[in-house]
Amino acid sequence: MTIKKICCIGAGYVGGPTCSVIALKCPEIIVTVVDKCKERIAQWNSDRLPIYEPGLDDVVEKCRGKNLFFSTDIERAIEEADLIFISVNTPTKTFGHGNGKAADLKYVESAARMIAQIATSNKIVVEKSTVPVRAAESIMNILNANHKPGVEYQILSNPEFLAEGTAINDLINADRVLIGGANTPGGQSAIEELCQVYEHWIPRKNILTTNTWSSELSKLAANAFLAQKISSINALSAICEATGADISEVAVAVGMDKRIGKEFLQASVGFGGSCFKKDILNLVYISECLNLPAVAAYWQQVIDMNEYQKTRFSAGVIESLFNTVTDKKITILGFAFKKNTGDTRESPAIHVAKTLLDEGAILHIYDPKVEESQIIEDLSMDHVPDLKHKVKIYPDAYSATKNTHAIVLCTEWDEFMQLDYERIYSEMTKPAYIFDGRKILQHDRLQKIGFIVQTIGKKLTR
Ligand code: NAD
Repeated sequence: MTIKKICCIGAGYVGGPTCSVIALKCPEIIVTVVDKCKERIAQWNSDRLPIYEPGLDDVVEKCRGKNLFFSTDIERAIEEADLIFISVNTPTKTFGHGNGKAADLKYVESAARMIAQIATSNKIVVEKSTVPVRAAESIMNILNANHKPGVEYQILSNPEFLAEGTAINDLINADRVLIGGANTPGGQSAIEELCQVYEHWIPRKNILTTNTWSSELSKLAANAFLAQKISSINALSAICEATGADISEVAVAVGMDKRIGKEFLQASVGFGGSCFKKDILNLVYISECLNLPAVAAYWQQVIDMNEYQKTRFSAGVIESLFNTVTDKKITILGFAFKKNTGDTRESPAIHVAKTLLDEGAILHIYDPKVEESQIIEDLSMDHVPDLKHKVKIYPDAYSATKNTHAIVLCTEWDEFMQLDYERIYSEMTKPAYIFDGRKILQHDRLQKIGFIVQTIGKKLTR
């Protein structure tokens, strides 16, 4: 069989961009991305896509209506496809009176059940979602227990390594594509089919094939390693602030060692995004289930360090502002969890903003890509009923900073480096503070203008 039609269940941050690039690179394959959310599909079919991702609009425009389709007709797309990606969300669920956390596979399960109910011909089913190790076994059990007569399934694991904000580039120039499958003739031939799809643009040497469980675990491991690097540099940033060392200098010195590498050594207010915390919690849960408490504790510490960094940064803001922010206007610059995305899932800005709100501050928030409704939803707290009076969203950085006491920079958007800080300073309440949670601003220059500047991992003296 050569793959002629692909269906992707889940039109989110992964399913949408991934399938758009497959459609771009494989013009002879019909790719249909389906979702149960009508609004999301309507947006994919409009000029305003549901997610912001540099380069995505161009790719979608080139392919949509030719070999790329976005639809709510899940049944038809499943029935017609040779290969089905499951790219649904895999959130974290809490159990045991709030003490335990694990991946909630209810959406994966429901996708598998839909496939089994609908399919009348053989399918290759591919886990694109990030799942715990051996999730493919559960999917296979569901498919085999519910399949229509004569229908056979092959299950592959093909985790996605794209990063939001650079997704299109990451997909087109992937470091590697990982495909895991069963060591059976059927499993190996399914791997080969998927390899042939990627080989349209990825060199064969960059396509790695493994057994299913290695592939599933590698995705969790890759995110855990990346997050661990951030937590390591953030842990050192606290030592820098207390001793006079400068974390940027330490990062260069450490990163020049090829064995360590210079990427992901940027100290900050902490990591966010829907994946790092969730995937590590997943690893912690698996370790606990396997009765490996030391392994669980090791990875848990990466998350705990990240929480500590967000708390430490927020406390530093309050402490600097004479230990009280009650009724003080404070600007939050950036609300997305990183630049070049409108995604706020697990954004450190939420933690910082909620802490300041709890202490009575009035927040002026500006982010180039995050919608007002999203910010209000993220900040809603039962004990702050008058949120609309406490939080104001602005259309640009200048109006957001006017008459405020302090700027708290939470996202590293390029435009924040190019602002006219003389103008901003002249319109702020004095003394005017900047807390640079991403270390992207020119601190000396800001100090010369008159700002009191604080950042991560370096004590700034005036
Ligand atoms: P998302 O929430 O943006 O999108 C998931 C979509 O699946 C939603 O639109 C939802 O409506 C849809 N969906 C859920 N159940 C469905 C069903 N039964 N039928 C049809 N549609 C259904 O999630 P995402 O960020 O795209 O992540 C998807 C998976 O990819 C997750 O497992 C995540 O961990 C993994 N992942 C995410 C990233 C990232 O940067 N976001 C990177 C790599 C891997």
